[in-house]
Amino acid sequence: MKPAFGAAICSVGLFISSCAVYFGGNEVTSIPAPATFVVRNANIYDPVDGRVGTALAVRDGKIVIIGSDADVQSLIQPRTHVLNADGGVVLPGLHDAHGHLLNLGFELERADLRGAKSEAEMVARAAEFAKKHADGWLLGRAWDQNLWIHKQFPTHSALDAATGARPAFLVRVDGHAGLANAAAMKLAGVGRSTQDPPGGRIIKDESGEPTGVFIDDAMGLVARAIPAPGRADRTRGYLNAQKESLAAGLVCVHDAGLGIADQEVLEELDREHKLKLRIYGMALADAAPAAARAGDRYELRAVKAYADGALGSRGAAMLEPYSDDPANRGLLLIESGDFIKLATACADRGLQLCTHAIGDRGNRLVLDAYETVFKQKFGTVSRPDLRWRVEHCQVVAPADFARFKQLGLIASMQPTHATSDGPWAPARIGNQRMEGAYAWGKFIELNIPLAFGSDFPVESHDPRLGIYAALTLRDPGSNDNKRFGPGRTLTMKETIAAFTTGAAFAAFHENDWGRLKKDFVADLTIFDKNFVDDSDPRAVLNAKVIRTIVGGEVAYPAP
Ligand SMILES: [Zn+2]
Repeated sequence: MKPAFGAAICSVGLFISSCAVYFGGNEVTSIPAPATFVVRNANIYDPVDGRVGTALAVRDGKIVIIGSDADVQSLIQPRTHVLNADGGVVLPGLHDAHGHLLNLGFELERADLRGAKSEAEMVARAAEFAKKHADGWLLGRAWDQNLWIHKQFPTHSALDAATGARPAFLVRVDGHAGLANAAAMKLAGVGRSTQDPPGGRIIKDESGEPTGVFIDDAMGLVARAIPAPGRADRTRGYLNAQKESLAAGLVCVHDAGLGIADQEVLEELDREHKLKLRIYGMALADAAPAAARAGDRYELRAVKAYADGALGSRGAAMLEPYSDDPANRGLLLIESGDFIKLATACADRGLQLCTHAIGDRGNRLVLDAYETVFKQKFGTVSRPDLRWRVEHCQVVAPADFARFKQLGLIASMQPTHATSDGPWAPARIGNQRMEGAYAWGKFIELNIPLAFGSDFPVESHDPRLGIYAALTLRDPGSNDNKRFGPGRTLTMKETIAAFTTGAAFAAFHENDWGRLKKDFVADLTIFDKNFVDDSDPRAVLNAKVIRTIVGGEVAYPAP
């Protein structure tokens, strides 16, 4: 239908994206439909193009305009959510490319004993928590006897007095020891006749009775008595972790290791539209899907495998022995033949393989296996289109960096690991190997795609800490402010890119996620301060998330 001279085809409607105005049959201008969300008086920062404007408008979940405050004015209508950012910064929504949502959710349901200055304070905090959480086992985390005057391990008696018949298990800050009360030991069937299991130790007093402290693999003797989480527990855990993640400014978490029960819960939450956060899943190898699964906020097309352990417990597989333990080269967790079989199965099903590798021997095993599969299956060594990832890439032999490029792999790394491990890592692996440790600068120089995360709850899920660590290689909490590791620090642009475009690429979404660009999905993290243009890297630590926008909707603060 051709409208009469000078008439508009439609009046401005909320659900019509735009409508043309015709003069004598020629389209001359366009009245835009209103935006659902507008941010102005801001620094709009794209990790590729840099600062691209002061205002941004969103409609139908996508970015429709980036420009000046005047450019977005005509899109503001009564129903538009308008944010004056007051000079803050708008980033593409930040990802955590390697986290563990359910573990974060469960940690939130445990008594937080971090920083307790005495055994009495630890017990008092646990008892306080128990009062507020009436049912079942009392679980706690993060006590550290090194903060107490006598620096001795606690015993179960003080805890018994506060908890009575309710079983309690409080885990030490490093996760390598736990304190059980008498009720917990009774339920677990542990007593004076119980022997140390391999790789663990039960601390006993002079009379031979367990004191309540269980070291390393002995923790399992108590943990096995704790009921396994049910579906409702998992659902609650994911929802709590989602809330924390959105509040920290994350729009997407790459969840590194989903079992079948996790997948079922996430599928249900996604179906019921209870996910606001995007979750890019990696299935555990024994729970790998038959094919990739796309959803609204939850996708599953990746598989998580493990090559070795971790550096802190000397479980990372090293080519040469540990510098502080000359008989030990760490542990491979998978045999090369089995790994090649797994990788081949992933390639057959079109799944992305993401393999945990910390030590230089662990990383080499992964590189060798990926190369073997590429050659056998595709007759080439380079398959960048598969986007297979190495998770952590923490210590890499000098000769192996170029192989990541050659094979077409993605390095998925966690900047805060460098600053957390900093105090002891050089002693553990020596200065020479430190050259290839936490070396994200080397990956960038070789143009190897880099995705950043935190491995939460091993580290904090707060991306500001990761940004600061990448920019400085320093620990914000340390008094001497010493720089860790010999590698180069990253620029702000490189750092933000690894948390946004890099992570989006690692999730096959570089064409719709991770940029502030017209027609990209409106995932935004908005901070109250423009730390990206601040010469002091500490500025990021003082910036606060004021909005987390996912798919154009305000996800934090919760509406
Ligand atoms: Zn992890």
